[in-house]
This record gives sequence, structure tokens and C-alpha cells, in this order.
Amino acid sequence: MHSERTFMSSPPAYQNLELLPIAGQWREGTSGRTLDVADPFTGATLLSLPLAGREDLDEAYRGAYDAQPEWAAMGPTARGDVMHRAVALFDARKDEITGWLVRESGSTRIKAEIEWGAARAITQEAASLPGRMHGRILPSDVPGKESRVYRQPLGVVGVISPWNFPLHLSARSVAPALALGNAVVVKPASDTPVSGGLLLARLFEEAGLPAGVLSVVVGAGSDIGDAFVEHPIPSFVSFTGSTAVGRNIGRLANSGEHLKHVALELGGNSPFVVLADADVEAAVDAAVVGKFLHQGQICMAINRIIVEAPLLEAFTQRFVERVKALPCGDPGKPETVIGPVINDRQLAGLKDKIARARKEGARVLLGGEPQGNVMPPHVFGDVTAEMGIAREEIFGPLVGIQSARDAEHALELANRSEYGLSSAVFTRDITRGVQFAQRLRAGMTHVNDMPVNDEANAPFGGEKNSGIGRFNGDWAIEEFTTDHWITVQSAPRAYPF
Ligand code: NAP
Ligand code: MG
Repeated sequence: MHSERTFMSSPPAYQNLELLPIAGQWREGTSGRTLDVADPFTGATLLSLPLAGREDLDEAYRGAYDAQPEWAAMGPTARGDVMHRAVALFDARKDEITGWLVRESGSTRIKAEIEWGAARAITQEAASLPGRMHGRILPSDVPGKESRVYRQPLGVVGVISPWNFPLHLSARSVAPALALGNAVVVKPASDTPVSGGLLLARLFEEAGLPAGVLSVVVGAGSDIGDAFVEHPIPSFVSFTGSTAVGRNIGRLANSGEHLKHVALELGGNSPFVVLADADVEAAVDAAVVGKFLHQGQICMAINRIIVEAPLLEAFTQRFVERVKALPCGDPGKPETVIGPVINDRQLAGLKDKIARARKEGARVLLGGEPQGNVMPPHVFGDVTAEMGIAREEIFGPLVGIQSARDAEHALELANRSEYGLSSAVFTRDITRGVQFAQRLRAGMTHVNDMPVNDEANAPFGGEKNSGIGRFNGDWAIEEFTTDHWITVQSAPRAYPF
């Protein structure tokens, strides 16, 4: 898939990961509080990290503000070079990076490799962005006026990321924002400070990013989250996480003294629709991965399976058969498909969802008891659109199957959600599939594939309560830059008075 360069040997692993890069210095956070970062499978403490407080945050933003103009003034080739060197480091340090993803976020080897590839791809895409930042010259109605549009970096960008794809979901904001001439301060999730921020900072530093252009503040969202958003320096906050926190960030960004742009990439409730003319085997293959990759902890993961009645039995039987055979357990073993969920709180939430699904009348087709944080896959039949398991985002290895009378009913069920991130439809009739896709209210729909897709050059984002904004490619240029209209009046102007 990726053309990997060959290296004589991997460089020694990064050390002192308990230190935060703040305004160009690697040092301890000064909040007085310490975070123990745990392996979600073994429970072992991976590292203890002194957390950042508000003063550290302020220093990080000021350092970014000071460092940004010089970074932006470096030509497109020089900024692109930093990205290219970062890509080479992704390759040289692949084992180190995927190792952190396994230990810190409970990623299976399969998922860690996918996430590494996605973060590498967006960094490579970012290398091309400096040269794609185009201004314009517009015609003017005013005689003797030249009307120009300059495309500029925003200045300082704040990034808040979640724990499920920590490396990639930080990288897809950080790499384009940097490449386009911004300075960045990242707040990774408290479950994944290393893979969500500290590794990237080490990597970009090694790739030649000037000191202070990228800072990482590790601190609890409940502690420094509001200050992170309300600080006067960042003019843009890119948030990926839950809809509840995202709403609050949207409110904060525009409530106080400072009006800010926000990008909000929030929750999802992806429908996976199987129409009566679908290839059942192909649909089952897609559904198994689209549901259970990373234990279902993906915003795009299948949340509802909707099958047109004639295929319901065949699909359900084959799906349950396949899911029953998925290897669960140690994420470090190459064959494992279902590893641990991230923490006790998430596990407790899933147990609650299972109990409610039973109470509401869903039929358990596949179940089992968790071993530690490893929740075996659960499949429910006889699910209706009113049940919690259909209405709420699951974010775990559980899924319900709904029956649709016909294609119109399937569409109505698929659209019955407050969310609109990704979606999928299976049919042998491609034109029908595309027409169905066009009537789904979602940011992304995949015909004859799973809803889990993210490519560095394609627009990623959601409708409805799934958020505001788009990532990747040309859309990243829109998000992380702004337009400045500048005119030049070179002939005397005929003013009306
Ligand atoms: P979360 O609780 O919203 O946390 C996400 C990030 O926000 C973390 O860094 C968290 O920090 C921080 N945060 C928490 N409270 C905050 C506050 N008051 N102010 C500012 N920041 C705050 O979400 P999560 O549980 O980590 O992630 C799961 C959710 O993210 C799911 O709903 C999923 O659908 C969504 N998600 C969406 C996408 C997408 O692209 N649309 C991708 C992945 C995940 P702490 O860790 O310190 O609390
Ligand atoms: Mg952890």
C-alpha cells in the first residue's frame, strides 16, 4: 500500500515522554497534578505525567503566537520539506508508533497499522498544501481598481482530539494546519497523551519544525478545556470528540469577548443498509469490519444494520456466524480482532446499553461476559428504531439489526437519526445505490463498502449533530486559512460627493 523506504536501522525510541513541549521547551506541566497513563488491556501504568495547568496553556499560546510569523514566512518548499521529513520518520519509526497505539489506546495490530497509515497519508497530503494555497485576482466594477484576494494562514490554531484514533485525529488537523503556515497548540485526550500529541511533537521536531510552532498541553478537559477555547490567541479551534462537549465548545467560542471559528467533528450513528438485491456475502464482509474494527470505537462505525426483509434471515445468520468466530483478547497478538475498550467508564456504559437493549425487547443473537476490558461482540435482532441501541451512538462492539419492509422504508429508517456522519448501502444496482446515497442526510456515503473510510484527499465530515466543517485535501485549505480582500486603486476615483 505505502511505498516504505528502507532504513539501515530504526532510530532509538523517543525518551522522556512525560515532558510537554511548551513554547519551545520540553518540560513538566506545572498544574501540580499527575496523570497515570494506563494500558487498557493489562492495566499497567505506562507513564506518569505532570499535567499542564492554565499558566502552561497561556505560555503555549503565546509561544505559538510569537513563532508563527517566521514559520509562515518560510517558503512553501521549506514547509513542505518538514512534512516530507515527518513522513520519512513515520516510516523509520513505524514499530515505535504502532507499539504506542497498541499499548496506550488498546488498538489491535490491525487497527494500529491502519491508523499509522492514515496519519502518514495526511502528513504526505499536507506536504502538498503549501503550494496549493492560491489567492485570486477578481474583476472590479470600479474603474482603475485591482481587486485581490490573499489567502493567509489563520495564525494560531487550537486542536482538541479524542482517544479512539488519537494519532490520526490529531495529525489530520495538526499536519495541514502547520503546512499552511499556522502555529498549533494541541490538547490530546487524557487517555492517550502520547499517541495523541507527544509523539507527533517529537516527530515534527525531529523533522525540523522550528521550536514553539507546535505545543502540546496535556490536561483534563474538565480543567483546562474552557480556557483552551476561550484564550484570546487562537482564532480557530478544531475539535474532534463527543457531541455534548462539541456543543459546549461551539457555545464558548462565540459567547465571550472573542468570536472564533470552530470545526466540530462529533458523534455518529452510521446506518448500514442492505437492499434486497445486494450480494449478501459481500455485505457481511463489509459489516463485520465496519462494525468491529477497533471494538466499534469509531465515529464512522456501523451503529445500525438495516436489512430489506427478503434478505433479513440470510444476512443475519451469516453475520452472526462470522462475528462469533472473531478472535478476542490481547491486542498485541497479530490475529486479535477485538481488543479492550479504552477504560472502565466506557465498559460500564456498554454494559448499561446491553441491559437496556434486553429490557426494551431486543433479541440477543450473540453475547457473552467481558474479560477485563475486553467486551465480546454482541448482536441483537428484532431491533426497532425507538430502542436506545438504535437511537444512541454505541461506540463499542455491539450492534442491532432492523428489518425494513422495502427500500423506501430502509431510507426512512436510515435517516431517522440526529446524526449524519457516514453511511453505507449495498445493492447490485449501482445507479440505484447512488440515488439512495443522495437521499441520505450524511456527509459521507459508501455504495457497496463499509461506512469506515477516510482518505487524505477526500472531504471528511458530517451533517446534522455530527458537526460542522470538513477535513482533508482542498477542504483543509478552506478550514485552516482565511481570505483577505485587498484592493489597489490606481486611477482617481469618481466619488459621489
Ligand atoms: P470527549 O469526551 O468529547 O473528549 C474529546 C476531547 O475533548 C478530549 O481531548 C477531552 O479531554 C476533551 N474535553 C472533554 N471535556 C472538555 C471540555 N469541557 N472542554 C474542552 N475539551 C474537553 O469524547 P471522547 O469520549 O474522547 O471520544 C468519543 C467521541 O468522539 C464519540 O462521540 C465519537 O463519535 C467522537 N468522535 C468523532 C470523530 C469524528 O471525526 N467525527 C472521530 C472520533 C471520535 P479529556 O480526555 O481530558 O476529557
Ligand atoms: Mg489509557
